[in-house]
Amino acid sequence: MNDEKFNFDLMDFIALSPTPFHAVEAMIYKLECAGYQRLYEADSWQLKENQGYYVSRNDSSIIAFKLGEDPVSNGINMVGAHTDSPCLKVKPEPDMLTKGYYQLGVEVYGGALLNPWFDRDLSLAGRVNYLDEDNDLESTLINFEDAIAVIPSLAIHLDREANNSRCVNSQTDIPPVLLKLPPSASEEENIPSFKDILLHKIKDKTGAVEVLDYELSFYDVQQPAFVGLHQDFIASARLDNLLSCYTGLMAMTETSNPGSKLLVCTDHEEVGSTSACGARGSFLQSVLERIAGSHENSVRMIDQSMLISADNAHAVHPNFVDKHDDNHGPEINQGPVIKTNANQRYATSSDTSAIFRQLCKKADVPVQSFVVRTDMGCGSTIGPITASETGVKTLDVGVPTFAMHSIRELAGRWDAYYLFRVLKEFYQ
Ligand SMILES: [Zn+2]
Repeated sequence: MNDEKFNFDLMDFIALSPTPFHAVEAMIYKLECAGYQRLYEADSWQLKENQGYYVSRNDSSIIAFKLGEDPVSNGINMVGAHTDSPCLKVKPEPDMLTKGYYQLGVEVYGGALLNPWFDRDLSLAGRVNYLDEDNDLESTLINFEDAIAVIPSLAIHLDREANNSRCVNSQTDIPPVLLKLPPSASEEENIPSFKDILLHKIKDKTGAVEVLDYELSFYDVQQPAFVGLHQDFIASARLDNLLSCYTGLMAMTETSNPGSKLLVCTDHEEVGSTSACGARGSFLQSVLERIAGSHENSVRMIDQSMLISADNAHAVHPNFVDKHDDNHGPEINQGPVIKTNANQRYATSSDTSAIFRQLCKKADVPVQSFVVRTDMGCGSTIGPITASETGVKTLDVGVPTFAMHSIRELAGRWDAYYLFRVLKEFYQ
């Protein structure tokens, strides 16, 4: 696969994945095309050598693996990433009507950069739980696809300080506007009900008779694109961290050697990973135990295994160079970044980073280093969480990006492809 095809496929994957549920659905499609078979946690598993498998939890986290000879003695090469991104989620009772404008109340999910959400063409997607004609509880994924909402800015004439000191109140400033009712409409009769809107949307396809609940989030309908005079950049929502999910998935499915390999992509990283399907939960641990067959075998297998936690890094920004340490400012299109932190906000050790540097050499890929300025706080990833939950030796890497947690982030056209080549080398 060349870099152009890789990047176009990456952009298609992100466009198809407005929520973690959709990302897992898109990954399942690719896994099944590659011959991977579905497992359910409720079933008993009989695993065969060299057969690919996948298992999902909450439909928003997924683990895929393929076992070679004696994984207990030889260990498993694992890559980890997360399926979620900061966004605006619809509240349980969201209906709002102000001056005839129908709006939805939203919660901020994760550390979203809120200013870029204004004046965007927004759509809505996620999971809806409903009752069908037989009174059975079911769920379905939905995606409105069209731009159905917008959060208009306040004009600068009404806030002369906007460019100096505007801050965003997440309760009052960001409920998206969906509809303007005609002036004659009496408010009581005409307040739309969000659950009715959803029922109308899904009933033909599913036979739903009542919507009971949902997990839905807004997203920008603008498609991912190459930008720059020489198309050096990829601009898109959710590069953090669908870029790594996709890259890990492609590296695994395109490697045909007989070694044991695994990909784990979990939800809820942006809110701390503490959930049944998050990296702080039991998902990976329990899959590893089932692969190994017993607790003792699992401990032996983990000792022989390694995890590369892939999540984007902050590139040094030309307008804000003093936000980086002079010697640790990763540049876009200069290769993946090894992330290190003495206080273990990243799980990298000299053992694991040495292995990664060697892999980069073999794959003929440049590599960079990042540590945060010592007078600034440091982000974190699923790396240290997974390392402490399972005991697996771990490395934190990622491609350098701008505008992390914006509704439109920016990565380099070469970096995801570089990461793909190194992860392939790792899986080899
Ligand atoms: Zn991330």
